[in-house]
Amino acid sequence: MELHHVGVAVPELAEAAERYRALGYRIVAEETLPDQGVRAAMLQSGASRVELLEPLGPETAVGRFLQKRGPGLHHLAFATPDLARTLAELAAAGAPLIDREPRRGFGGHLVAFVHPRGFGGVLVEFVEARP
Ligand code: ZN
Repeated sequence: MELHHVGVAVPELAEAAERYRALGYRIVAEETLPDQGVRAAMLQSGASRVELLEPLGPETAVGRFLQKRGPGLHHLAFATPDLARTLAELAAAGAPLIDREPRRGFGGHLVAFVHPRGFGGVLVEFVEARP
C-alpha cells in the first residue's frame, strides 16, 4: 500500500501551512469536519501529501493530543482501493480497529482508523483513494 498522506497536529493551520509552502507544498483542499473536531488542510507537492489538523476545541481528539504531546506527527495514512476489504482483513488478523466500517473523511474519501497499539504506537488511517 502506498502512503497517502502524513497527518500532523498543529495549533494553527495558516501558520503551519506557511512552513510547508516554503517547501513547495500548496493547499489543495481545506475543510472543517465537526464530527472529528478538526479543521483540516491537505497540502501537496508532486505525489506527496501532508494533512494539517487544527482542533476545533481542547476537548476534541486532536485538542487532547496537542495538550498531551504538543504539535507534531499524528498519523500515517495508507491508500487502499477497497477499504471494506482491507478492514475485513485487518479485523480477521485481530487489528484493533477504531472504525469497524468505512466512514466519510476529509475530501469525501472513505476512511477508517486503526488504534496505535496495532501498529507499534502509530495511529494508522486507511483511505479509499478514488482515481
Ligand atoms: Zn489523515
